[in-house]
Amino acid sequence: MTIPSRTRVAIVGAGPAGLVLSCLLHRAGIDTVVLEARSRAHVAARVRAGVLEQGTVDVLTELGAGARLAREAMRHDGFELRVDGERHRVPVRALTGRPLTFYGQQEVVKDLIELRQATGAPLVFEAPVEEIADPTGEPVVRYRHAGGTGELRCEVVVACDGFHGVGRSTVPAGVLSTVERRFPLAWLGVLAAVAPSSDVAVYAAHQDGFAMLSMRSPRLTRLYVQCRPDDRVEDWPDGRIWAALHRRLATDGWALQEGPIVERSVTPLRAFVAAPMQFGNLYLAGDAAHIVPPPGAKGLNLAVRDVVVLAERLTAALTGRDPAAVDDYTDTCLRHVWRAQQFACWLTRLLHVPPNADPFDRSLQRAELRALLSSHRAVQLLAEQHAGCPPDRAGGAVRTEGAPAA
Ligand SMILES: Cc1cc2nc3c(=O)[nH]c(=O)nc-3n(C[C@H](O)[C@H](O)[C@H](O)COP(=O)(O)OP(=O)(O)OC[C@H]3O[C@@H](n4cnc5c(N)ncnc54)[C@H](O)[C@@H]3O)c2cc1C
Repeated sequence: MTIPSRTRVAIVGAGPAGLVLSCLLHRAGIDTVVLEARSRAHVAARVRAGVLEQGTVDVLTELGAGARLAREAMRHDGFELRVDGERHRVPVRALTGRPLTFYGQQEVVKDLIELRQATGAPLVFEAPVEEIADPTGEPVVRYRHAGGTGELRCEVVVACDGFHGVGRSTVPAGVLSTVERRFPLAWLGVLAAVAPSSDVAVYAAHQDGFAMLSMRSPRLTRLYVQCRPDDRVEDWPDGRIWAALHRRLATDGWALQEGPIVERSVTPLRAFVAAPMQFGNLYLAGDAAHIVPPPGAKGLNLAVRDVVVLAERLTAALTGRDPAAVDDYTDTCLRHVWRAQQFACWLTRLLHVPPNADPFDRSLQRAELRALLSSHRAVQLLAEQHAGCPPDRAGGAVRTEGAPAA
C-alpha cells in the first residue's frame, strides 16, 4: 500500500481506540491514516479484554462492525459473586435493562480491521511511529516501514498507541500530569480450550486470593488467578494453576472443567491517569492516557468511550461547524475515566487479598462484602457500574442512571 504523505487526522495504533476512531471519522467524511507498529496477524491474535458494555456494542453495531458480534457473542443476564464458596447472583439485566456481552477483544479488532479495509482508507501495519514532531503547530508523524522511514503531515494526531506508545511521551513533562497506583497484586490470565463451567461469569473472593471464571466463546474459557506482580508465567505450571482455580472457585454442587491452556500471561494491577489528554493538535485516547485495573472490565470500554467523544468533537471542529468543540475533550473524558477508576479500584480492594493483609483487614473486607450483598441498593449500584452507561455523546454531564434524559 502507498502511504500518503498528508492526511487530515493521523491515528497512531490499531487497537480498539484507533480502529473505532478511524471508522467514525471515515463515516463523517474526514480523511485519516492509521499507522500500527505490529503485524495484522499479531494485533488480531492478542488476547486481552472480552466484556463489552452495551454502549460499546451499540457503537460497533452502528458502525457496521456488529454482524459477527450479533451472531457469536455470548450475552449474560448477570454474574455471580462467590464469597468463600457462597454463591450470590447479581442480576445485571433485571436491575439495569442491559446485558453483559462476552466477545474477545481480538474478535472486535478483527471485525474493525475488516470494516476499515473495506473502505479502502489507509491502515498500515508494521509501521511503528518513532516521533510526533510539532504537535502544537502542523504535526509531522515520523515512522519506519518496509525497511525505510516516512513522514506523514497532518492537522491532528491522535495517539491511540496504548500505555507504552510514543504519544504520551510527546507531551512535555511540565504540561502532562500523571497519577498512578500500583497494587501489590497481579492477575495470571489463561485461556483454556474448554466450554465454560458456568452460565455466567464468576468473581470469587477466597481467603487464598481472588479468582475469576469468564468466557470468550462457547468453547473458550478465560480464567484468572490473583498472583504476585513479580510472578512469571513459568512460576505457574498447569497443575498449580488448576489447583488454585479449583480451591478458590469451589462451591457445593459445582465442578470446574479443565482443558488445554492455549495462552497465559501475567498482568500487574495498576491504575494510571494522565492529563491533559490534549496538547495542541495532539490528542491521547484509550490506554495511552489511562489504565484501570482489570476487575470490572472497563479498559476496552473506556477506550471506545474516549474516541466516541473525540470523533464527535473533531468532526465539528474539522468541518468548521464548531472550531472550539474540542476544548472540553479532556474534562469530558476525565469524568468517565475517574468513574471507571473508582469502580475498578473499589472492586480490586474488595475482592483481593493483599500480601500484607492481617486478620483485621480480612475480617473488614468480608464484612464489607456481606453488607454489600445484603443491600438491594448496593447491589443495584454494583450492577449499574458493571453494565456501564451509554457513551456520553452530548458531552455534558453523564446523566444519572434512571433519571430522565435532559
Ligand atoms: C496485557 C493486557 C491484558 C489485558 N487484559 C484485560 C482483561 O483481561 N480484561 C479487560 O477488561 N481489559 C484488559 N486489558 C485492557 C484492555 O485490553 C485495554 O484497555 C484496551 O486494549 C485499550 O485499547 P487501546 O486501543 O487504547 O490500546 P491497545 O489495545 O493497547 O492498542 C494500542 C495499539 O497501538 C500500537 N502501538 C503502540 N506503539 C505504537 C507506535 N509507536 N506506533 C504505532 N503503533 C503503536 C500497539 O501495537 C497496539 O496495537 C488488558 C490490557 C493489556 C495490555
